[in-house]
Amino acid sequence: MKAILPLFIFIDACGWEIIRNDPFGRSFAPGRKRLESVFGYSSACVPSILSGRWPEEHHNWCYFVYDPNRSPFKSLRPLRWLPRAITGRRLFRRWLSRFVKVQLKFRGYFDLYNIPFKYISLFDFTEKKSPLKPGGLNRGPNIFDFLEIRGIPYHVSDPARSEQDNLQIVTAEIRSERIDFAFVYWPELDGLLHRVGNRSPEVPAKLRQYEQRIEQLLSAARGHYEEVRLYVLSDHGMANCDELLDLKARIEGLDPRMEQDYAAVYDSTMVRFWFFNPRARQQITECLRKVPQGSILSDEELKALRTFFPDGYFGELIFLVKEGVLIVPSHMGERPIRAMHGYHPKEKQSYAALLTNQAEVAADIAAIPDLFRLMTRDAELAKARNGKSQADSEWLNPGLTPLEADLQEAGKAAAKLAPS
Ligand SMILES: [Zn+2]
Repeated sequence: MKAILPLFIFIDACGWEIIRNDPFGRSFAPGRKRLESVFGYSSACVPSILSGRWPEEHHNWCYFVYDPNRSPFKSLRPLRWLPRAITGRRLFRRWLSRFVKVQLKFRGYFDLYNIPFKYISLFDFTEKKSPLKPGGLNRGPNIFDFLEIRGIPYHVSDPARSEQDNLQIVTAEIRSERIDFAFVYWPELDGLLHRVGNRSPEVPAKLRQYEQRIEQLLSAARGHYEEVRLYVLSDHGMANCDELLDLKARIEGLDPRMEQDYAAVYDSTMVRFWFFNPRARQQITECLRKVPQGSILSDEELKALRTFFPDGYFGELIFLVKEGVLIVPSHMGERPIRAMHGYHPKEKQSYAALLTNQAEVAADIAAIPDLFRLMTRDAELAKARNGKSQADSEWLNPGLTPLEADLQEAGKAAAKLAPS
């Protein structure tokens, strides 16, 4: 038996508004808190949670940036001659993304999405490492570096495996008492919400499944740890998309030409521009100012959001749409999806959530990067206390592994029952 297990369960897109009117986790995690998210997609939010720092510090913000000199995609340019009927297919793109990921030795999540092959060699991909591994951020350490440096044994889910497989692995690690910290990563709710929207009955059904799994995990943990400190956390919420905006057609209808005069990445809720001449900057800015569905973010706003990059690395001009508007077609997708995130963090559906069995959550845990402090604090606590309880049990049972100790206990019980 060990003293403490800090158990962090990350559920992608399990936002505050998703659980606000749902009894999710009431029985095992009655403490609830609304948290401010980070501006950007999971590519920005997850690294912020794992490092306690903001995009301007860790430099994991948006996936694609204009950087032709460093583009690893030059070999894909010949594919521009393939008919759009093939290259626009999701199935083909997924297959090719997997192939490219292996070829380029990318360790994180990778998808070519809907970037035209005509322009692919203009762009670099910014998440070449996995944020769920030590050394996985573009700048600075994450929680896994922290755990490794301190020699704290931990579990982290492998995103290449299914939620169910990861659940089995962490359960086995808990039963063996090998770990002093666990970070469980569940991405399926995000995919479901994108597909069906935030009002579908499939959403509460998925939450019930998560409840069952967490109960299961807790009951396994309670058999091996005196105290389980449970935190269920998310990175952002999900807004239904009720208005479609073809911003690409408007921009491409202007005089300035992509590649010659400017470059743009059309994410699904924002567009990021790089300009090669003042004329392109002026005409595009003027056009964007007339689009009522969104606005250009000022440097001051970007600084307040902590996503300001003075060198324009992620874009010299950022246009963001209002919650509920979807930019389509975009470089993220050719067709509309039911729901999206990546709006301004102050929009209603953007907020993330923290659910816990702890009596109190400090007031300074207000935004998702603050979760890092909870993780490091609990990991240190577990290390200190588990080391001690481990030493105590070794003194009682010198040299016995937990399994051997179990067997010895069972033997004693059997001896008591045997007729003397
Ligand atoms: Zn998502």
